[in-house]
Amino acid sequence: MLPDWVIRHVAHAYGARMPKRPAKFVQRYQPMAGGCYGVFALPGAYVEVQEITTINNKRRVVQGNLTNEEYEFYIGTKYQDSDTATCRFCNSWLLSKKERLAHNTESKGDCNRMIKKMAALLRRDKLCVICDKNTPKTVYGFPICSVDCLAKYRFSRQPYPAFIQAKKMVVETK
Ligand SMILES: [Zn+2]
Ligand SMILES: [Zn+2]
Repeated sequence: MLPDWVIRHVAHAYGARMPKRPAKFVQRYQPMAGGCYGVFALPGAYVEVQEITTINNKRRVVQGNLTNEEYEFYIGTKYQDSDTATCRFCNSWLLSKKERLAHNTESKGDCNRMIKKMAALLRRDKLCVICDKNTPKTVYGFPICSVDCLAKYRFSRQPYPAFIQAKKMVVETK
């Protein structure tokens, strides 16, 4: 089970100050079925936001809390006011833009570089990184076939097999 502060950070929609969190959170975990992180267990008011919205009759992924450039390297949340972001490579939780920039400096750009390498590997296969379907489409350099897969790519902390495999390969050939 995730610590309470993680759940609050992921699900809280109001950008309120949170209790002090542990300095580093790198524990790996399995999310509950359906990529849900226990939000149903949250007490009190909490605003449900859809990951996908319809604009001009077209289904689109909501922007969520990160900029497009940041989604390349970080997993965000669909809650626009949330601070939550997780490094796609090392799983560090980086809860502000400042922390994310510092993470990049501290890792000497390593995490970002590895993510780009993973994307290059996966592009060769032309298989969606989320669902493994054949696709010529790419987003953030990764093969991503659909709006639904893009939503998962932006917001889901579930480790997908293709992603895990690519990570293993770039680590081994570092
Ligand atoms: Zn990292
Ligand atoms: Zn897909």
